[in-house]
Amino acid sequence: MAAISSLKGMVCAAVTAAVVVGGAAGPLAAAPGPGPVPGSTGSGDSLFPQAGNGGYDAQRYRVVLDYRRDGSISASTRLTARARHPLSSFSLDLEGLRVERVRVDGREATFRRHGHELVITPVRPVRGAFAARVAYHGTPHSHTDPDGSSEGWIATADGATTVNEPVGAMTWFPDNDTPRDKARYTFAVTAPSRRAVVANGILVDRSRHGARTTWTWRQGEPMASYLAMISIGDYRVFRSTMRTVAGRRLPVWSFVERSLGPQRGARHLVPRIVRWEERRFGAYPFDSTGMVAHELSVGYALETQDRPVYPGGPGVGVLVHELAHQWYGDSVTPRDWGDIWLNEGFATYAEWLWTAAHGGDSTRATFRALYRQNGPKSDLWKPAPAALSDPADLFGPAYLRGAMTLQVLRQRVGTDHFFDILRSWARLRRHGGASTHGFIGLSERISGDRLHRMFRRWLYTPARPRGY
Ligand SMILES: [Zn+2]
Repeated sequence: MAAISSLKGMVCAAVTAAVVVGGAAGPLAAAPGPGPVPGSTGSGDSLFPQAGNGGYDAQRYRVVLDYRRDGSISASTRLTARARHPLSSFSLDLEGLRVERVRVDGREATFRRHGHELVITPVRPVRGAFAARVAYHGTPHSHTDPDGSSEGWIATADGATTVNEPVGAMTWFPDNDTPRDKARYTFAVTAPSRRAVVANGILVDRSRHGARTTWTWRQGEPMASYLAMISIGDYRVFRSTMRTVAGRRLPVWSFVERSLGPQRGARHLVPRIVRWEERRFGAYPFDSTGMVAHELSVGYALETQDRPVYPGGPGVGVLVHELAHQWYGDSVTPRDWGDIWLNEGFATYAEWLWTAAHGGDSTRATFRALYRQNGPKSDLWKPAPAALSDPADLFGPAYLRGAMTLQVLRQRVGTDHFFDILRSWARLRRHGGASTHGFIGLSERISGDRLHRMFRRWLYTPARPRGY
């Protein structure tokens, strides 16, 4: 994420497993083990412990959503998942909206709402692979974050756009709303035909039925729910292809709100930046790219997977930032929100690299200016970027102090080792989960250096590190 206005304060901001009917027919049913228990209603995240759920691993979502001109939706979400142990009940996150019915493995299930928890009790406990389908309707609303900003479903004059970081997905579809449970997605969104609909992934179908059109997008790579995006609006649609550094053909889908003009400059920068970042970070991790530009009141851009959302026509810095997240954040995703510097520090550092490569300050000069301009009493040093305790600080020190940490690492291990670490991190954790601990371990292995003290000073200590 990168803040465009001052709102966020800082410089920027499967297995479609065959459905195994639970119970005696399931192959796991005969296995010895504990009896069915309820799945947990939280994920245990350090900053958002109540978001997400335990007891199962989401594999695939199919979100079928009918958008009406009055801003309401009628929708169903089908989740295919795998129970980690026999579950007598399990939870999804869903805020607002009215649930009509829930079926589990084709059979009617009972459910109750408790805050944003949708607790589902199937007729029989689920074991192994299972499928749940939730039908719901209503008018979605945005979610207000601990820092006062808005996320999730954002209504606009011509439709709606979703920007979910960190927990906004639950405002428009029931999900396991934690970055530690990635899944594959299909979105089938029906809207008035004079509007266009964009989402993550590849457009696999567009069918018109009179005055309404259904757009079906498929995200074939694992994706965290905070990166899921649909947008319905008065768009100009641009489709082209680009070649990656390795010669792979990549579809480029860009959706630009008509009032913003064609945004030719920004659109043409996208393939150029992707290739530039590939040369530094390794192969682009996804199967398509592009951008979504729409006037939005939220005041920040978001690195929604494949094609980020920009709240207006984007400049080069924010394009570099959000595209860098495709490697660091979208493909390599922190398992816990407390490790968000692994997203924002890296994307901010990518901006520094771009500046340095295009006639601006070197990354070292950018670091030194920040260090000198921010004395020991500056807010830049508190809290420490990997020791957050208040969710309102999610979009704070992770950016600049995170990027400064990477510069310190680079100066310590040398430029060759440094880029080896960045590329290896993207390659080894591709489409997976990550932690600060894992990054420190990788840095030590590649450099052959002991780096714990350095990282402790820069990531975990709420004070200005001395001697730089
Ligand atoms: Zn960001």
